[in-house]
Amino acid sequence: MCLFGFDGQLISCWPSLLFVRPKPGLFAQNNYCLSSNGLLSLNKYMMQSPLWVNDVLNLFFPNVCQACGDALGRQEKVMCISCQVKLPKTGFYLHEDNPVSRVFWGRVNLNAATSFLFFNKGGNVQELIHALKYKNNKEVGVLLGELFGYELNQSPLFNNIDLVIPVPLHPRKYRKRGFNQSETIATGISRAIKASVDFENFIRLVNTDSQTRKSRYNRWENVKGVFGIRNEETLQNKHILLVDDVLTTGATLEACAATLLALENTKVSVATLAYAQV
Ligand SMILES: [Zn+2]
Repeated sequence: MCLFGFDGQLISCWPSLLFVRPKPGLFAQNNYCLSSNGLLSLNKYMMQSPLWVNDVLNLFFPNVCQACGDALGRQEKVMCISCQVKLPKTGFYLHEDNPVSRVFWGRVNLNAATSFLFFNKGGNVQELIHALKYKNNKEVGVLLGELFGYELNQSPLFNNIDLVIPVPLHPRKYRKRGFNQSETIATGISRAIKASVDFENFIRLVNTDSQTRKSRYNRWENVKGVFGIRNEETLQNKHILLVDDVLTTGATLEACAATLLALENTKVSVATLAYAQV
């Protein structure tokens, strides 16, 4: 057997199997194996294999916690139980007046607003967001969305959501990235709160520039007229939960909510995975 650790390189020769680790972004999963059936996701291969085979494979390609990097146990997926217990939850969802809803005061009339976790630089939440956004680990978004959704179920402020809608990416950015990270979070939330998702009817019309170095006023100018609605009837008379990954200035969410609130009898609430103080 031989083992090399470079991305995109041969990393292991097994008598009957050849394992390759593709370059980042080439495939959604980290590890692949080349078997007599062709290239196969290692995770898929492991699901089809007896437990002892999984244990042997785990020795060389452990499934690791996306927050702390430790190997996951048989019953654990995406994140270890210890990290799940230690997630820095905000608890904002229970209070109408909270630091997230205050971000939007005087800007747009939301029904309610909350974030699931505190975003601390260098902490586990940053690791999780990084795994979701830059390592294309969609399972992180779905799992955190589900955990968030179970929390929202405990709040009367969020108990009558009709539709979960992610902040949309421009089609060009979507093609480049391959997926919208907010869609994965919205998927998880919708499963937990038993509401529908809509990825089709709220769209981004303009591919805006990076907003990292703009002031709040400029950011708002930058997102005005950026979003549009495809089929108004599907979004009218609904309580919409607008979902994003990290809340910073709120300018993008404000523009999204303002666009949706122009519809007849529509209520909008906001839920972001993480809250970063600016
Ligand atoms: Zn962990």
